Amino acid sequence: MARKLEDMGVLMTSPMSSYLERQLDDRFKLFKLWESPSGTRFSDSIVAVVGDTKMGADAELIESLPHLGMVATYSVGFDKIDLDKCREKGIRVANTPDVLTDDVSDTAIGLALATLRKICACDGFVRNGLWKSGDFHLCSKFSGKSIGIIGLGRIGSAIAKRAEAFGCTISYNSRSKKHNSNYTYYSNVVDLAANCQILIASCALTQETRHIVNRDVIGALGPKGILINIGRGALVDEPELVSALLQGRLAGAGLDVFENEPVVPEALLGLENVVLQSHVGSDTVETSKAMADLVVANLEAYFLNKPLLTPVV
Ligand code: NAP
Repeated sequence: MARKLEDMGVLMTSPMSSYLERQLDDRFKLFKLWESPSGTRFSDSIVAVVGDTKMGADAELIESLPHLGMVATYSVGFDKIDLDKCREKGIRVANTPDVLTDDVSDTAIGLALATLRKICACDGFVRNGLWKSGDFHLCSKFSGKSIGIIGLGRIGSAIAKRAEAFGCTISYNSRSKKHNSNYTYYSNVVDLAANCQILIASCALTQETRHIVNRDVIGALGPKGILINIGRGALVDEPELVSALLQGRLAGAGLDVFENEPVVPEALLGLENVVLQSHVGSDTVETSKAMADLVVANLEAYFLNKPLLTPVV
């Protein structure tokens, strides 16, 4: 006899959204890994894992769940999921593309504006009563700058579209040249960085893209260059970025993501030319709900033997 949906054991790896938690609890048999870290008590019951950018499904977790058939991540990035292990074991994987593209690309533009126009520093200037003693210093213009995008995927393309509305020129690096785009393509990131004023990292984190923004790329971007990272922290060699900012080899950075979240290099905290966020690129009420609904829809599709809505594997 077919098992009912409410008997399906679904394991959340970490606290994500309370709305998602309620939806999963209403429909399935929900287990929370963070409330029972060893996991051994319920491992036989789990048929699906819901992961996120903090904790996905690594080889160890996958091996510990003998009946696992599906991993649904509450994120578009799947760098925290061992895809090879999933393929080897016939485990399906789904993510949440498209529904977060607007928010993440809005965030990239917001970070670029905030970094160049020093919005956070100026906010502090007013709050601290410094305006009475004189004007805030001049900052740098965003409109019309040349933008280099690493990863002209869904989010990279949405950033490009927004930046065009600011009169910016667009160039990019991706694994492949996009024949449906008029933007300038550079087959390597050093050339891209040498030919733009603002470099935006929006590609997927893979073995090939880890530290794709390295010392050479930062050097090519140069002392007037700005780096924006809304992809993943490990796309950037963080110690190199910190030393370039401290030594004036880079003008500024707007960072939503970091290599060892939630740890942020101490040296960045005191820099006025840096804008820091806590990996909140897609964190709006609207998008969080849409992502949660997509996670649930993928799980239901899997359990009902229907095609996944947004399959990765
Ligand atoms: P996507 O449509 O799959 O785009 C990924 C892009 O990465 C593609 O353009 C791809 O190039 C490029 N890429 C992959 N390997 C590359 C390489 N070796 N060198 C250069 N480019 C490479 O994904 P998306 O929806 O735009 O999301 C992109 C990433 O944003 C996600 O993977 C995630 O890490 C990040 N993200 C961050 C937040 C946040 O809160 N900060 C939120 C959502 C997503 P091709 O086009 O040539 O294949």
